[in-house]
Amino acid sequence: MISLDEARRRVLDGVSPLTPREIACEHSAGLVVARDVIAAENVPPFANTAVDGYAVRAADVNLAVGVGDASAADGASATCELRVIGTLAAGDGTEWSVGAGEALRIMTGAVMPAGADAVVMVEDTEALAGNRVRMRKRTAAGAAVRPVGDDVRRGDVVFAHGTVLSPAGAGVLSSINARRVSVYPRAKVALLSTGDELVTDGSPLRRGQIRESNLTMLKILLDNSECEVSNLGVVADDEAMLARMLLDAARNNDAIVTSGGASMGDFDVVKAVLSRIAEMQWMQMAIKPAKPFAFGILAVDDRRVPVFGLPGNPVSSMISFELLARPALRKMMGHTRDLVRPLVRAIADAPLRRKPDGKVHFMRVFAQFGDDGRVHVRDTGPQGSHQLAATSAANALAVVPDGTGVVAGADVEVMLLGNQ
Ligand code: AMP
Ligand code: MG
Repeated sequence: MISLDEARRRVLDGVSPLTPREIACEHSAGLVVARDVIAAENVPPFANTAVDGYAVRAADVNLAVGVGDASAADGASATCELRVIGTLAAGDGTEWSVGAGEALRIMTGAVMPAGADAVVMVEDTEALAGNRVRMRKRTAAGAAVRPVGDDVRRGDVVFAHGTVLSPAGAGVLSSINARRVSVYPRAKVALLSTGDELVTDGSPLRRGQIRESNLTMLKILLDNSECEVSNLGVVADDEAMLARMLLDAARNNDAIVTSGGASMGDFDVVKAVLSRIAEMQWMQMAIKPAKPFAFGILAVDDRRVPVFGLPGNPVSSMISFELLARPALRKMMGHTRDLVRPLVRAIADAPLRRKPDGKVHFMRVFAQFGDDGRVHVRDTGPQGSHQLAATSAANALAVVPDGTGVVAGADVEVMLLGNQ
């Protein structure tokens, strides 16, 4: 058996980032920037008002109110009347100029007129008859004005190589007219399961059959990892057919994820076929669940496609995806940080019992913040590697070192899974 760290090192060493590609900014969220993005435009492109109100000369308002006026200091009873010269909406390009004693009615996002240096919000004014307005508070130069470029300045590196774009990041790209962006692409992943016992079409189960569950789960885990999945379904335990499917998958995808058939059984065809057509490492890790894991490269034409062979037991399948396949796929998609999900220190609210067996156990737990601001966990039920229902309630994995487990109230490291 090897350690999880050693297995992960082998897997990560075996993959490299995909070739960057330009894509439309609206599809970029969750992806990693491959070339620095430099702003070609200022945002906002012009000074504009942050509120609905009146563009004024601050000095006019403050002069009328009087510096040092006790009643004005809190702004309560200051008054100053100005002549309203017009109205300007957002998007209206009319050029206005505000002179002494004048105000321009102005809406959020509208261009600051020449001459004005502040905006008084409408709530602090009173419209009077005869196109006049009363200012009820003092103001200051620059108040409620959003200067040109105070979000993004032309020439700034807005997103450096390696940045993970968020939904807001995609919005920023739109705001600077960067309609296309160079990113590491989503990994195209072929997903398949093997097993003659697996039923996917809803038909009644014959003796010995079970319903397939891993493909449904793994497809979603891959989607959530920003991969583009081709679900090839369940392949019968037939070596020739499986070999053809795997070679075809390698021609059309960046990676292959298989579930099942990779351990020591007599009909473990994935193992038989991959051993023949790919350069594989069949690993046994000192962890539970998910002890067996296969990783290798399937070379076809001029492509070298990583293959992740996950165990068939549903819980093992999920955990080895999280611990090994997902980090590698993230590396392929240009990530350099958080390849593995973060570990946090939590408090076990109930004992996490286990037996000594030389392995690290990844126990399924539910994590939540307590009143003390710390993360608290308790297990979600039976911990067998076939018991997916108990795992489905978990949002974290407790990393329980070899021994008899963790007593109630003790600290334990947990990996947050990012669901729930
Ligand atoms: P294997 O890794 O093929 O030896 O399978 C280990 C266990 O997981 C067996 O009990 C299989 O029936 C079960 N299994 C394998 N693949 C799946 C799957 N896709 N969905 C649900 N159970 C599976
Ligand atoms: Mg099998």
